[in-house]
Amino acid sequence: MSSPWLQAFKNTLYPIFCRACDARILTDENGYFCPGCWEQSPALERPFCTGCGRPHPLRVGFGTHQNFPCADCRDKPNRYIRRSYGATRYGDAMEEAIKLLKFHNKTRLITPIAERMHAFIEAEMDAGQYDLLIPVPLHFVRLRLRGFNQSRLLAEAVLDNFPRATLDDSLRRIRPTRTQSHLSGKERLRNVQGAFAVKGDSLKGKTVLLIDDVVTSAGTVTECAKALRNAGAAHVDVLVAALASHESARPLFVE
Ligand SMILES: [Zn+2]
Ligand SMILES: [Zn+2]
Repeated sequence: MSSPWLQAFKNTLYPIFCRACDARILTDENGYFCPGCWEQSPALERPFCTGCGRPHPLRVGFGTHQNFPCADCRDKPNRYIRRSYGATRYGDAMEEAIKLLKFHNKTRLITPIAERMHAFIEAEMDAGQYDLLIPVPLHFVRLRLRGFNQSRLLAEAVLDNFPRATLDDSLRRIRPTRTQSHLSGKERLRNVQGAFAVKGDSLKGKTVLLIDDVVTSAGTVTECAKALRNAGAAHVDVLVAALASHESARPLFVE
């Protein structure tokens, strides 16, 4: 952490501009977004679906804070995931932040992204119930290319929020998969089918929280949860930094 005068000096020499609105950043915030854009980057607000974690848009303004399942989750509950939680909506500054993190190696953004997750966990989750935090794994080839797994960094950053939980790496991606965002719904499912496996038997009877950066179609996390349940996990919930709406199928990957 630099002193204020050093920060001011650095700002004069190397001005930084907000990646969302181009305003000059004068504080030591997160280095990429001005406080206005970061604070406004979309929070998800109650009531949530108690299955997929998405907010019920039509209920806003009705004064209800009671969460309840959406029609999709009522009709076809996820067989492997008990409940999903998204700390923010995937859009605006959060979308930019996740792209900078994943594709431009800006791992410094883990801290502000995890801060949004901390606030959400405190407000909305029963953190004491989880035994294990498990990040969605990358295939080792992609891990070697990128140099880090953003989901693991996020899991490390939020671990202290879960009083009983430990970090567990027994979930593996056993074959490489194509980028999900370029694929249709059916292709997505086929792409990740059988891509994950669990090493060892540490999951028997455990309540697991699976951690990922973004969820769009839930295909990847569902396939992970299936492997975890088949390995004996009693319950699998999912927590992601940002939840994309079903409609926002904008390509996640700028390649
Ligand atoms: Zn801004
Ligand atoms: Zn739902």
